[in-house]
Amino acid sequence: MRVLVVEDEVRMARLLKRGLEEEGHAVDIAGDAPEGLWMATENHYSAVVLDVMLPGFDGFELCRRLRGAGVWAPVLMLTARDEIGDRVRGLDAGADDYLVKPFSLLELAARLRALARRDDRSRPAVLGEGDLKLDPAAKRAWRGDTELKLSPKEFALLEVFLRRPGDVLTRSQIIEAVWDFAFDGTSNVVDQYVKYLRDIVDAPFGRHDIETVRGMGYRLRHQAPG
Ligand code: CA
Repeated sequence: MRVLVVEDEVRMARLLKRGLEEEGHAVDIAGDAPEGLWMATENHYSAVVLDVMLPGFDGFELCRRLRGAGVWAPVLMLTARDEIGDRVRGLDAGADDYLVKPFSLLELAARLRALARRDDRSRPAVLGEGDLKLDPAAKRAWRGDTELKLSPKEFALLEVFLRRPGDVLTRSQIIEAVWDFAFDGTSNVVDQYVKYLRDIVDAPFGRHDIETVRGMGYRLRHQAPG
């Protein structure tokens, strides 16, 4: 499987990479928390291994942000101390398992296998509104029987609308949900992406479900189930 390891200590990261590759996994390394967040949201990983102590922000916060961004890959946290507090914090943040340093590569590999096998209970339900359907975990969306080809940002935008059908969403609410903390552009990007999304989700189907609410923002029209 494809595994992301977020670990700033270079020797440790190399060791993990080599060990997991020997187990037959494909391994990417992120050296700090922002990079880990970016990689995990841009790519699809079967599992994420997170060190707790990271530059940028810590592994708990990273895990929370991954879940907030709709990344549902199993997360295994590496914690330096055998502290019940860390374990609880990790599970609160949405981690699936944790391992206390020092640990053996064999144990890490075994835990990862177990996580990959486990039914992902945190996997969110498929969202739907009218004939629109979106599976946050599988990263797929449909209008009726037609699968929609969406970029990651377009997908995230549609997910935001589908989580709150009928509600007016302001541009800043949308930026917060889709572009996250690091975004430093203007709200024009929201208008641009709403246009992209309409061109995929509405226009080809002769629909106008993504509505502009003048002076306020945007709204996904609330529809009868169908
Ligand atoms: Ca570290």
